[in-house]
Amino acid sequence: MEEQELSHILIILAGLLRAVGIVCIIALIFLGARLRYIFLIALLTVGGIFTTVLSFLLGILSFTHAVIYEVVVIFINLLVFFHAYWEKKSLPPPKPSENTRCMVCSAYIKPNQEYFVLKCGENYLYFDTEEHLKRFLENIEEYKKFRNLQIKEPECYYIHSKRLWVDLKQKEVGVSKSNQYSINAKG
Ligand SMILES: [Zn+2]
Repeated sequence: MEEQELSHILIILAGLLRAVGIVCIIALIFLGARLRYIFLIALLTVGGIFTTVLSFLLGILSFTHAVIYEVVVIFINLLVFFHAYWEKKSLPPPKPSENTRCMVCSAYIKPNQEYFVLKCGENYLYFDTEEHLKRFLENIEEYKKFRNLQIKEPECYYIHSKRLWVDLKQKEVGVSKSNQYSINAKG
């Protein structure tokens, strides 16, 4: 192939890299992920496009190397995206305040004792025992009326003592990871 055709392929790949970068950035902003990941993806995308196309045109990288380089940058972008997504999902819920009460029995929630947190969209509901959490989920419509709650469908719940999120649909768990992230989140 002519050098011009080869550079066209690189430009198409660069377009793909740009598209992946933009989609990841928009998704991360929408998710409310940490800014550092958004900057990192922006840097990788812009840097990746400039360095591959330029180094190929200047003869620093061969065509094959430039293609590999570009694919690797796309792959790293996706890895950063999934890491940021996972971290966002694993972050512990806000600590209960002095006035936080159990949604079922109205007992005060103590931050240094066991409690459970149900995530419904942007809302966090606190429970003093797992039994009360389950009772709430079983009679959710009654409790919503009783407590006058404007909440979305429950997604997952958090077990404070295990620092663990449990998905209500998949029963998905990840002890070590969520521990790791909760430690990071404090620092
Ligand atoms: Zn309770």
